[in-house]
Amino acid sequence: MAGEACVTHETIVYRAKVIHTMNASRPTATHVAVQDDRIILVGGVEDMQSLPGVRHDDRFADKVLLPGFVEGHAHVMEGTLWSWPYVGAFDRRAPDGRRIEGLKTIEAVIARLKESVKTLADSDEPLYAWGFDPLHVGGVKLTRHDLDTVSTTRPVLVHQASLHITNVNSLTLERAGFDASTTVAGVPKLDDGTPSGELQGLAARLRLFRTLGFNPMTGSLDQETLHRYGDAAALQGITTITDLHNDLLDPTVDVFRTHTGDMKVRLVPALASATHSPEEGMEKIRRLRAMNSDRLRFGIVKIVVDGSIQGFTARLRWPGYHNGAPNGLWYVAPDELMRIVGLYHQAGVQLHMHTNGDEATDAVLDAVEAAQIAHPRPDHRHTIQHCQMASAAQFRRMKSLGVCANLFSNHIFYWGDAHYAATMGPERAARIDAAATAERMGVPYAIHCDAPVTPLSPLFTMWCAVNRVTAAGRVLGPEERLTPAQALRAVTLGAAYTLKLDQEVGSIEVGKFADFAVLDADPLERAPEALKDITVWGTVSGGIIHEAPNG
Ligand SMILES: [Zn+2]
Repeated sequence: MAGEACVTHETIVYRAKVIHTMNASRPTATHVAVQDDRIILVGGVEDMQSLPGVRHDDRFADKVLLPGFVEGHAHVMEGTLWSWPYVGAFDRRAPDGRRIEGLKTIEAVIARLKESVKTLADSDEPLYAWGFDPLHVGGVKLTRHDLDTVSTTRPVLVHQASLHITNVNSLTLERAGFDASTTVAGVPKLDDGTPSGELQGLAARLRLFRTLGFNPMTGSLDQETLHRYGDAAALQGITTITDLHNDLLDPTVDVFRTHTGDMKVRLVPALASATHSPEEGMEKIRRLRAMNSDRLRFGIVKIVVDGSIQGFTARLRWPGYHNGAPNGLWYVAPDELMRIVGLYHQAGVQLHMHTNGDEATDAVLDAVEAAQIAHPRPDHRHTIQHCQMASAAQFRRMKSLGVCANLFSNHIFYWGDAHYAATMGPERAARIDAAATAERMGVPYAIHCDAPVTPLSPLFTMWCAVNRVTAAGRVLGPEERLTPAQALRAVTLGAAYTLKLDQEVGSIEVGKFADFAVLDADPLERAPEALKDITVWGTVSGGIIHEAPNG
């Protein structure tokens, strides 16, 4: 082709302290040769002599190279939220590398909000914040009276960590028409009968967002937001990431098409089934697939089957919630799930199905079994996302049906104490996110963070799955701990497999994309307790080096 004369196809050989390839045929190496965006050779220094005219680059000589991490369950909303102040209880890293200190009291939350409100120019511009969870500040609730001390002249909205609840000030309640007479579900009241300022679930919040003329849960995606998401991921060694629930409206698809080319990660969006009939969904997927590139992959569909365990909205089998709370919510009823799964399965679409409770997992397994009987399909790789309360019997069924699991290991740290004491009780809490059972049963599995619900950081997710320590220091289900090597596989090749991308990413071997995580220390040498403290130097993504800013 004309104009390509200037392309050199130069081969660059990187030397590292050690390379863990995750390729079982060649597990460790010291050198990797890259041509354009692909790996052309992996081995030792003597192997590299077989390549003519290479350029040597020793900048990673004291670093550890791993396959770039694959985050199989996260949301682009992480990019939206970082344009607002973070008020969660745990330290978190912003996309620019700064470490944002966690806030352990309501007073500290209010103080940060008061600082942030000063930076807003327009007197009526709302103040948004995110990351708060009453369970992480000793069960103390945030009320409208607290938020009124931040402002009475502009809306103040704080999204809780779960993203299912928003706290607002009195002015916001007034504008949305919520008062003592309100009967909409999800608007709890104070002792004096007035709304507390907490708005739970969909109905109450959709009314709020209509009033504001902006839905911060779907946001308005632009180049800046998308790149902020990519930056936050690259900072943690991620080179492939999902956006695992998106309506994929035309403006969003345009932003993806135009701006994933120069994003620091490959992006795999999942179409949200809730806003499409299966017929519309299949048509849309067909249209979107034609736009696929090396850095943007459409094709998967997400179905949310139940709610969350800590919100008591997950669907559980008998005996239900340990503290006696009523059973949770079906987001899709089992009959309807069976119909939807059947149609997508028949059409050859890969499904990613969110279940938290074990009753919801049963519903998915029943639906996949019926679909397989009606239309046998090898290698469908339907994946249960979260799959938190699956029993050993359910993992055995997953194995026989060819279903993968992507487990929410970070939950163990953030909500494990609540699961032990209130939601699941000691025995079932011990089997939450049972990664070692998945390993023993031979179920293909990955582990994930569900950012922005918990922080993007595969090393931290590995730490959670390997140590299973809660925030209060309890070891929850020691029999379900992974080894560091198993956890590393789960965040690389394991996650790539659940996305059907294991031919292209997830290990360092000839022909795959040159996607690496570059670390200062070896996660397979360090003590398991120290996994989360290893510094990520940066990434290589399709041969392009991204050094992480220091925070
Ligand atoms: Zn999610």
